Amino acid sequence: MADLTRLTAAQTAAAIASGETSAVDVAQAHLDRIAAIDEKVHAFLHVDTEGALAAARAVDAKRAKGEELGPLAGVPLALKDIFTTEGVPTTVGSKILDGWIPPYDATLTRRLKEADVVILGKTNMDEFAMGSSTENSAFGPTGNPWDLTRIPGGSGGGSSAALASFQAPLAIGTDTGGSIRQPAAVTGTVGVKPTYGAVSRYGMVAFSSSLDQGGPCARTVLDAALLHEAIAGHDPLDSTSIDAPVPAVVEAARNGDVRGLRVGVVKEFGGEGYQDGVMTRFHESVELLRELGAEIVEVSCPSFTYALAAYYLIAPSECSSNLARFDAMRYGLRVGDDGTRSAEEVTALTREAGFGAEVKRRIMLGTYALSSGYYDAYYGSAQKVRTLITRDFERAFGDVDVLVSPTTPTTAFPIGERADDPMAMYLADLCTIPSNLAGNAAMSLPCGLAPEDGLPVGLQIIAPALADDRLYRVGAAVESAFTARWGHPLLEEAPTL
Ligand code: GLN
Repeated sequence: MADLTRLTAAQTAAAIASGETSAVDVAQAHLDRIAAIDEKVHAFLHVDTEGALAAARAVDAKRAKGEELGPLAGVPLALKDIFTTEGVPTTVGSKILDGWIPPYDATLTRRLKEADVVILGKTNMDEFAMGSSTENSAFGPTGNPWDLTRIPGGSGGGSSAALASFQAPLAIGTDTGGSIRQPAAVTGTVGVKPTYGAVSRYGMVAFSSSLDQGGPCARTVLDAALLHEAIAGHDPLDSTSIDAPVPAVVEAARNGDVRGLRVGVVKEFGGEGYQDGVMTRFHESVELLRELGAEIVEVSCPSFTYALAAYYLIAPSECSSNLARFDAMRYGLRVGDDGTRSAEEVTALTREAGFGAEVKRRIMLGTYALSSGYYDAYYGSAQKVRTLITRDFERAFGDVDVLVSPTTPTTAFPIGERADDPMAMYLADLCTIPSNLAGNAAMSLPCGLAPEDGLPVGLQIIAPALADDRLYRVGAAVESAFTARWGHPLLEEAPTL
């Protein structure tokens, strides 16, 4: 067969099921690709060669016995290093978990294994998922396969870079403020933040629990849908898990259609700070939707202007509480435990040595925002803004079926450019954060390359909570129209590494 790393997940599963190739050959082709290029990209923190080959052998054995294979059986996947994996290191991009081997699988990990997905390894990320560039990883940055001197987005830059460099056809991300969608946008891949509560958070290391949501990453809309169906669904181990059937996302992805659909363009996304080429591609996408039969409506969501400010109070507040568990006693790193120090001193020394600068900044911000006397002014106000944002969405979705916007204001910026300027870094999530605060569903998919720098631009589609299938119906229609007109941005203009 031709190069097995160039297939989509759907094609890979079909080729394995028909016996055209074996799961072991597919896994080996991807492991070889990782060995050949990942030194340059640095998408992976840990490659589980033995685990991947064992999982692939099990798929081939099932097939040999005539057992029925699931829709993703034998398909390789890159797993963000925020999900626990039994017996395989999980670092969350932090030194504080260095050396910790989880004794259990996250629900998501277990579901992937039950679906016979072949987990290749764990991908690089900003420490504790705090960042938009993967530069906050304690283990060094990841390069964007389109230009290795640029960021692959964050926090899930390792997962998006693995897809864009053909080291895996599927990947998993988590999205608290944009960490699935922004990396997808800047690498020319597809990323979906499902409705809050759709994918279990059990075994996903917590950053901001009321915002965190795991989701699928892929190179095509259909592949993302197949992965979405494999990982979503009720989990009694997560108290915020949705106890309702998963929307029919695969069916939606196979039936892309926007005829008669009302599509809202959010007026507040655009203007100053947005790159020209990003807006050019966005306006083209809106025109394309119109040509495909959608009705375009301008909508206003005035509270979105305050989303970033509210997020940077709520997320740090929750993280300051969640990260208290890293006390040097339970997991990973322990510094200064020489028999002369108290437990409190060992905890303090460990947290000083184990957490990076951005994580410390967030813990301090959050502790301050929650402190007595300031709680109402900061955390309380931010929660009120959150309610206003949710109402803006409700009003908009009373009038339209989906909303669209650019995913990010700019294309991939150079590594180092925003590293010392947290505010500039935070702006990368301007368009993605409102959906986390409201808990609805959103997708980023490629909509061409920016004329001025030749780098991928992402189109964001937002659907009401529990209507994740709409993302896939619209996404599939846009993807096929784009591909017919301009070719697939990743499959044909992919960077050669
Ligand atoms: N970039 C945002 C932050 O730094 C979002 C991160 C995320 O979604 N995990 O918090």
